[in-house]
Amino acid sequence: MMTQADRLDTLLTEERRFAPPESFRNQANYRDPEVYERAARDPEAYWAEEAKNLDWFRPFTKILDWNPPHARWFYDGTLNAAYNTVDRHRFGPRKNKAAIIWEGEPGDSRVLTYDMLGREVDRAAHVLKSLGVQKGDRVTIYLPMVPELPIAMLACAKIGAIHSVVFGGFSARALHERILDADAKVLITADGGWRRGNVVPLKRNADEAVQGTPVEKVLVVERVGAAAAAPWTPGRDVSWREAMAAAPATPFPCEEMNAEDILFLLYTSGTTGKPKGIVHSTGGYLVGANTSLRTVFDIKDDDVYFCTADIGWITGHTYIVYGPLSCGATVVMYEGAPDWPDRDRYWQIVEKYGVTIFYTAPTSIRTFMKWGPEYVQRHRIDTLRLLGSVGEPINPEAWMWYHEHVGQGRCPIVDTWWQTETGCAMIAPLPGLVTTKPGSATRPVPGISADVFDEEGQSVPAGSGGYLVITRPWPSMLRTIWRDDERFARTYFGKFPGIYLPGDGAHKDEDNYIWILGRIDDVINVSGHRIGTMEVESALVDHHAVAEAAVIGRSHEVKGQAITAFVTLKEGIAATDELMNELKRHVVEKIGALARPEEIIFIADLPKTRSGKIMRRLLRDIAEGRVLGDTSTLADPSVVESLKEMYKDKE
Ligand code: ATP
Ligand code: MG
Repeated sequence: MMTQADRLDTLLTEERRFAPPESFRNQANYRDPEVYERAARDPEAYWAEEAKNLDWFRPFTKILDWNPPHARWFYDGTLNAAYNTVDRHRFGPRKNKAAIIWEGEPGDSRVLTYDMLGREVDRAAHVLKSLGVQKGDRVTIYLPMVPELPIAMLACAKIGAIHSVVFGGFSARALHERILDADAKVLITADGGWRRGNVVPLKRNADEAVQGTPVEKVLVVERVGAAAAAPWTPGRDVSWREAMAAAPATPFPCEEMNAEDILFLLYTSGTTGKPKGIVHSTGGYLVGANTSLRTVFDIKDDDVYFCTADIGWITGHTYIVYGPLSCGATVVMYEGAPDWPDRDRYWQIVEKYGVTIFYTAPTSIRTFMKWGPEYVQRHRIDTLRLLGSVGEPINPEAWMWYHEHVGQGRCPIVDTWWQTETGCAMIAPLPGLVTTKPGSATRPVPGISADVFDEEGQSVPAGSGGYLVITRPWPSMLRTIWRDDERFARTYFGKFPGIYLPGDGAHKDEDNYIWILGRIDDVINVSGHRIGTMEVESALVDHHAVAEAAVIGRSHEVKGQAITAFVTLKEGIAATDELMNELKRHVVEKIGALARPEEIIFIADLPKTRSGKIMRRLLRDIAEGRVLGDTSTLADPSVVESLKEMYKDKE
């Protein structure tokens, strides 16, 4: 049982405030706080109004059927996601507007207007149909960040097939498991992809992965040519180029989908354990994605929008493909690494295409900090007007660096808290309305009811912490876990009946702003005080020598748990005992003696998932000498090996 003293304590105090600049507010899509009140008064009416921004074949008359934990939204309406993201723009005034501006890692580029994108999607839909794909079938997509990736997704959407995109950085084994779980009959891959000048051998991984799965056809996009020659299996392997050339040039009719039909499956990052196949609907998901671009991202017709995520993650699904395209926006898509050929690549892209909205992750921002501001300063980036962050809590110092060096002190920052499961941003400021505080995702977006609960399921008073919860259903919520409805009910609705539990700890401040403190599983208990990992990490990152920090609780006879900090240093800074003591003092000064790390371990890299999130769970296992849990989503397994070695030496 959790006692009063067990509540999440907040140690960090952040006093900086950033009101929306007047010039931004004056042009913003949302300038009147009335939207918050209206949505709170009647969330269902609010969402029904937002849903009218999509084109429905048969308009819905029902809004919500809530039978916890199962929700159905707009469930007598029909629509098609490819129609809403491509065709409705293509056959209207945006016909020749750039939909996707694609930048290849080697420097090649390609622009697809809405009309061109539409033609490609039609051809690809004909190809998939010729391979036997039908409505409801699963198609696994394992591609690099090339235009064929969104084209393949939208072709599935057009047919009504369910896509399951697997990040191109995953191994054959990880791909194999996801194909089996989804029971896919077609796999779309590429001969290879470019990463830091090297070829990623996708086709070779794919060949291994499809063994012993129901996959009948492998459609292979030609990206790197001979550089990745893998054996060809006649009868199974199909060339994308040849199949597209042979496909009819006629429009492919959109399948009329019920709002509740599945649009896609997507496996979570696996930061806390075995990845879950998250199921998203067609109607509700698209309403969430579309609304979010207009509210949180203030999207306009003349924006050039660049999200650095990989489409293999939910951020890429919602904020590269379905959100911006459903708004008819221009999206910049980049194939490769941020430091190839040099560390200014993102800023070079911003300058080259005149990017106005830029969305990235705290892990990237901390890397930019580690490299230093000179790379940003090489380029004219004054076209930028809005910045976003997603994936982990953003440490206040990283926020400030982003604000100053990328935002030039004038671009609002939207820190967006959400998950694969939520479909779109849930806690985030509307940039023309909400005063931001570095490190806080601020307040729920209109139409979302979020709160912080104590162990008994009561809303905690302002100034305290507990479990982050979503208290009402929302259109883009996951519908279930693929083929595991029991796990769905247990994981997300098992603790508080009818209340969605994301699994993150949070603090509610005096202004009712929400601060995400890290995952509930990661919370540290020192002498009865529960401390979020984020706070101690932020105090460490605040020190000029520190690039990144990961903090865990290690069992301790007296205190219950003692804080262990894993720290990576900025370039050119030496790891000394003096620095270690200085860092401990710095944490004490910033947040108090309670948070003083018992030990600080300097390492070259932190273990992260392939989506860039710190895997504290593995650090805890290593520190406590346990057998490691699931490591299949680890970005660089050698990081864990060297840590294990270090720990052996210490003992
Ligand atoms: P798994 O559920 O398999 O462990 P995961 O939770 O890392 O993987 P995602 O759905 O990609 O998979 O990540 C969502 C999580 O990322 C959130 O629950 C939260 O912990 C974290 N997160 C995302 N955005 C933010 C943000 N802006 N602030 C704080 N935390 C964030
Ligand atoms: Mg999760």
